[in-house]
Amino acid sequence: MSGVKSLDPAVLALLEPKVQVIPGEKGAIYLVGPIRLPVDLDGETVEFKWYCWLNCEEVTDHFERIVGKLSSVNLAEYQQSSVLVYGDFENAEHAWIRLHSICHTGDIFGSKRCDCGFQLKQSMKKIAGHGTGALFYLANQEGRGIGLFSKALAYILQENGYDTVDANLSLGFADDSRNYGDAIRVLRTLRSKPVTIITNNPKKLEALQRSGMAVEGRVPLWGDVSEYNASYLQTKMTRSGHMEQDGCCNND
Ligand SMILES: [Zn+2]
Repeated sequence: MSGVKSLDPAVLALLEPKVQVIPGEKGAIYLVGPIRLPVDLDGETVEFKWYCWLNCEEVTDHFERIVGKLSSVNLAEYQQSSVLVYGDFENAEHAWIRLHSICHTGDIFGSKRCDCGFQLKQSMKKIAGHGTGALFYLANQEGRGIGLFSKALAYILQENGYDTVDANLSLGFADDSRNYGDAIRVLRTLRSKPVTIITNNPKKLEALQRSGMAVEGRVPLWGDVSEYNASYLQTKMTRSGHMEQDGCCNND
């Protein structure tokens, strides 16, 4: 077929054992990994195993076809999700997980308008400290699923008196359009034993339970409240049903 380049068999032989095909909602999820990823956590080097996944309408065990198309589809224009795994995630009796929605402003820039950056680092530390777990970094969930540009618009509304929920609604979005289906499919590929989820968000807990995944507990995660995000955090509690003082533009 056009657009598919053939691969050097030596390259394919290195990649193929690292790829799993998971049935998706539409098409397939191609999960690649594990890849060694030493990470700096407050000056200490902690070694995670990293996996990344790609949704594709084409379902094939001939992974070469998928790789052959990559160079022509401009993947960098889109975001892909990934997961950082710590310890023996498949077999350990108790494992902690977090479903972390991407937050460009909080995770990368360290924005104080939300607490995502804090939650991201804290959950990595909690998972490593617990000994086994996985942090799912969900790339299509910016601004509770509205995208980065729309989040910028929503911030302008918030600077003019709208709360985070009304801002999203005023732009024509649902308050929360996130879907955890793909992350949970990947989770169930990596582990079948029960998990404890790090969250304050009842929707994440419910999504996990509805999927049939055994959930043995929940670990709340809050902190980093400041004058810049106090009203957003309050909104998440009063309007979005969050279980404790936490939450933000995006995560919880
Ligand atoms: Zn955020």
